[in-house]
Amino acid sequence: MYGSAKFVETIQTLLQIQEGAVRLEAPALSLETDSLLRRCGAPHSFIGWTFSCHMANEPCGACRGCYKHLATIESVY
Ligand SMILES: [Zn+2]
Repeated sequence: MYGSAKFVETIQTLLQIQEGAVRLEAPALSLETDSLLRRCGAPHSFIGWTFSCHMANEPCGACRGCYKHLATIESVY
């Protein structure tokens, strides 16, 4: 089970205990980042403004998040 899947399962259990009828859905959980980006159809002009830096409040260009973001953009566009 992916870490994200375990998180969704845990939150779903919490919601059932606390709220009862509230249900969490994560329809993109099984998609890789590039597949999700292709499916959503967001234009490069929009995605180019985003970043996922793990080290700073702006893209450092040297962390795992920045590398993945760049690789995903190059893969999709
Ligand atoms: Zn970074």
